[in-house]
Amino acid sequence: MDTKLALFGGDPVRTQLYPQHTTLIDDAEEREVIAVLRGGHLSGFSGRAGERFLGGPKVRELEDRFCDRFGVNYAVSFNSATSALHGAVMAAGIQAGDEVITSPFTMSATPSAVLMHNAIPVFADVEDRTFGLDPASVESRITPRTRAILTVNLFGHPSRLTALAAIADAHDIPLLEDNSQSPGAQCGRGLAGTFGKIGVQSLNYHKAIQTGEGGMALTDDPDVALRLQLIRNHGEAVVGDIGRHDEPSQLGWNYRLTEIQAAIGIPQLAKLDRLNQIRQRLASSLTAGLKEFDFLSPPVIEATCKHVYYLYAMRFDAKKVGIPRAAFAKALRAEGIAIAEGYTKPLYLLPMYQKRRAYGKNGFPFTLNADAAPDYSLGLCPVAERLYGREILTTDICKYPNSEREVEEFVTAVQKVIQNRDKLLSAA
Ligand SMILES: *Cc1c(COP(=O)(O)O)cnc(C)c1O
Repeated sequence: MDTKLALFGGDPVRTQLYPQHTTLIDDAEEREVIAVLRGGHLSGFSGRAGERFLGGPKVRELEDRFCDRFGVNYAVSFNSATSALHGAVMAAGIQAGDEVITSPFTMSATPSAVLMHNAIPVFADVEDRTFGLDPASVESRITPRTRAILTVNLFGHPSRLTALAAIADAHDIPLLEDNSQSPGAQCGRGLAGTFGKIGVQSLNYHKAIQTGEGGMALTDDPDVALRLQLIRNHGEAVVGDIGRHDEPSQLGWNYRLTEIQAAIGIPQLAKLDRLNQIRQRLASSLTAGLKEFDFLSPPVIEATCKHVYYLYAMRFDAKKVGIPRAAFAKALRAEGIAIAEGYTKPLYLLPMYQKRRAYGKNGFPFTLNADAAPDYSLGLCPVAERLYGREILTTDICKYPNSEREVEEFVTAVQKVIQNRDKLLSAA
């Protein structure tokens, strides 16, 4: 093998593009789609009280399968996890101006769902092992206005769900889970997405299983389930007819899944465990392959927990290896290897929070608590800032249809970069 770094004109370790991500879509999904098309009812929803308020047969079947798989009483489908998160914040009884404590180290949709309901995201810091909310930081952010904790099970591993649920209980507020990245992850016998009052799954193209776009909210509480159904489907036109005149929030949206999407979701859900096992196998090979590199800390799997590796996230120690993270990642990318730095900028540093501009220039809804403006300043969450700025590296090579070959190339490329450490540094 050419030992000259691709960055300096050598042959790269990997020359092809990665195969396109798929989720084992085959005849089963095809049959489901054709059956719906031939039946002609592409949506079973109608925005009024009655039988069609809850959607068509495929939507209901998919929801039933989610109840079975996750062991919950109710599953309410949405057209995305973003809309399901909006529904969850609303169904949890949050009012405009209330504070919801959440993570800054997540996809932007998590705290945006809080703003969609005119409530205020308060960011607590994350911790180094699970990259989820740090319970001690959450405690420190609780105020008399705190009305919920919205945790994120990041990268495929549960956040500290037992500790966070205990804090929520002690303050008599609900725990909500954004489980978009972690369906099938668990700790003990508890599945991620089922510790909180409501757990949200994503069914978008990038996630473990997919319907193109889609989401699902899980709960055991019948009142919460009804509220989720109302926000999904024009609640304002329905509450009167079903005798729920006193619902605190009555506005509804059209957040409905189509029958074709739901039909695709049914065989997809049946493949969740297989797809997770593929990721787990490749991730454990990658961890074994990277063992010789003490400057890379592989993902932590807490005792009794199961990781499903939506992303394989490593912590990079620049001091130990003597190479800046950016130079290391750039050299790997030149070798044709999929690697990304930082994951996401802590969300309070986005212009929307810095400028307090969610809906317009007047600062709404951030201005609702004039005497207690939320803090979005640099330094607010030092761990998230450090992970983003210096430590986190992620790769998505553990997903289907990648194989051991992609894992071997990854390890080979890291070896090659380390062998060329001095050349890399003198070029910098
Ligand atoms: C993907 C993702 C979402 C949004 O999912 P959509 O279905 O695309 O709306 C929300 N939160 C997290 C953590 C995600 O990874």
